Amino acid sequence: MKAINVKLIKEDFPLLSRKMNDKKIVYLDSAATSQKPNSVINGVSNFYRRYNANVHRGAYKLAEESTNAYESSREKIAEFINAPSPSTIIFTRNTTESINLVALTWGEQNIKKNDHILVTELEHHSNLLPWMMLAKRKGAILDYVKVNKETGTLDKDSFEEKLKTKPKLVAISQCSNVLGNIIDIKGFAKKSHDAGAKVLVDGAQSVPHMPVDVKYIDCDFLAFSGHKMLAYTGIGVLYAKEEILRDMPPLFGGGEMILSVSYQDFVPNDIPWKFEAGTPNIEGAISLKLAIDYLNKIGMEKIQQHEEELTQYTVEKLSKIKNVKIYGPVEKSKHSGIVSFSIKGVHPHDIATIFDKEGIAIRAGHHCAMPLVNNVLNEPALARMSFYLYNDENDIDAAIEAIKLCKQTFNVP
Ligand code: PMP
Repeated sequence: MKAINVKLIKEDFPLLSRKMNDKKIVYLDSAATSQKPNSVINGVSNFYRRYNANVHRGAYKLAEESTNAYESSREKIAEFINAPSPSTIIFTRNTTESINLVALTWGEQNIKKNDHILVTELEHHSNLLPWMMLAKRKGAILDYVKVNKETGTLDKDSFEEKLKTKPKLVAISQCSNVLGNIIDIKGFAKKSHDAGAKVLVDGAQSVPHMPVDVKYIDCDFLAFSGHKMLAYTGIGVLYAKEEILRDMPPLFGGGEMILSVSYQDFVPNDIPWKFEAGTPNIEGAISLKLAIDYLNKIGMEKIQQHEEELTQYTVEKLSKIKNVKIYGPVEKSKHSGIVSFSIKGVHPHDIATIFDKEGIAIRAGHHCAMPLVNNVLNEPALARMSFYLYNDENDIDAAIEAIKLCKQTFNVP
């Protein structure tokens, strides 16, 4: 018995019935962005057809309807990640903006010269650059938890050692977009808190694919992007604990983020609106609510189980092919639906080009984790397949055939 019915799910995603280079498209790049189901596309279209108006400001029915839709999305997101209140959910553009918002507000306020900020060698540039830039501005020190090159797991001894510096912040991704390993955030958060640090979690690759409960993992901040979880591009989320948000100054000034303004001064709005200056991405927020409805209908546990099964299937097949190397953990329960690989003697960009000719979309490059790929894994680039609820074994079989074709084309034994 399969965890989910992919055949039925595929029918909800119009793009997946498209042809690419005369072949039915096989989309294996959901870690970059996900496809969108009809319910999301139609729901946003319905917003523009039926109740488009700016939020919060109008005293008329349309504005009330759009405000209700926008704010009910916030409530839905709070429920989805088990946040204590919708006021702890800030709408941003994406994970990157959410993390930068923390660096530019909480970071500016709390990080001082010679303070330590702890990240890991696994991080995406989005959870690296904001801290590097903050450290440079403040004269603070950026430290790294080491990654075990063979297993792709974080080195616990290195983590414990770095905690002795008493970092003010530990910023860590829950799932690596290169190695696909799922990190035990609860354990890391507990130790970080005991050492006096705040904990920021990059949830870009976890929130779309598994149940994430902010009360259970007890993070102080969680950042994620709507476009990777069936919603539109341009909507992201920052969750933070209420007391932290109350102390954080606003980043942008303008409409919405104030209670009152005089020519000399202003009183900021309450949370969450204090951080949402200007007209927000209303359609994006609506799309995220609809996306969560879709994901909830299938069930996040089932989605996670499905991706685990697919990954296991892929790893088993790939490990039987000579001269193909797989990166990341081998343990099923620690591996999300991301499989990076290389073929000896074939550049990853050539792999992606051959895949494309076969109608298969995969990604090749440093995956915005240059230090990890270049310095830790010692590779110029990697090819990466990534799965979601609309992928099945047929998609993997097509990818395996494409790998064989790559080997043939480049005379790899
Ligand atoms: N963190 C991780 C782990 C990611 O995989 C990504 C997207 N590739 C990001 C952050 C950045 O997401 P976005 O581009 O939506 O801000």
